[in-house]
Amino acid sequence: MKKNYVLKGSCACRNVNYKVEGKPLFTQACHCKNCKLSTGSSFVIHTMIMEEDFKISGDVASINLPTGSGKGYHAYFCIICGVYVFCRYGISKGRIALRTKTLEEPIEPQAHIFVKDKDPWIEISNKSICHDKMYDRERTWSEESLKRIKK
Ligand SMILES: [Zn+2]
Ligand SMILES: [Zn+2]
Repeated sequence: MKKNYVLKGSCACRNVNYKVEGKPLFTQACHCKNCKLSTGSSFVIHTMIMEEDFKISGDVASINLPTGSGKGYHAYFCIICGVYVFCRYGISKGRIALRTKTLEEPIEPQAHIFVKDKDPWIEISNKSICHDKMYDRERTWSEESLKRIKK
């Protein structure tokens, strides 16, 4: 993989800083009840990346939280400001989900999932990327991203 694609991000207090040296795999907003609770807001936006592309500095704490799949995930927080920076899902080895808005540059969601649980006062203009629950990854992710996670 070429290393000419670099993204940077940080927590609110800048104790935690990270770099992603590689193209993100996919970005999605999730409107499920678990994500509402973990953010204290209406949805979460996650950008999936390869773990090998990820470099982080600054101390984080982690906790295991439940997911719909039952396998759970580890959420990582800055130990000073408490911002939830990234997580690792039990079912996706070798990959990390960044909290998209901790990135310096904006990335738009390519999908909205668990739209069945979406707050009624949120109107998503692009209906073609809305999924009642989960999408079929083989049909939704780019070919390039699918190839990378199968390596
Ligand atoms: Zn912080
Ligand atoms: Zn969710």
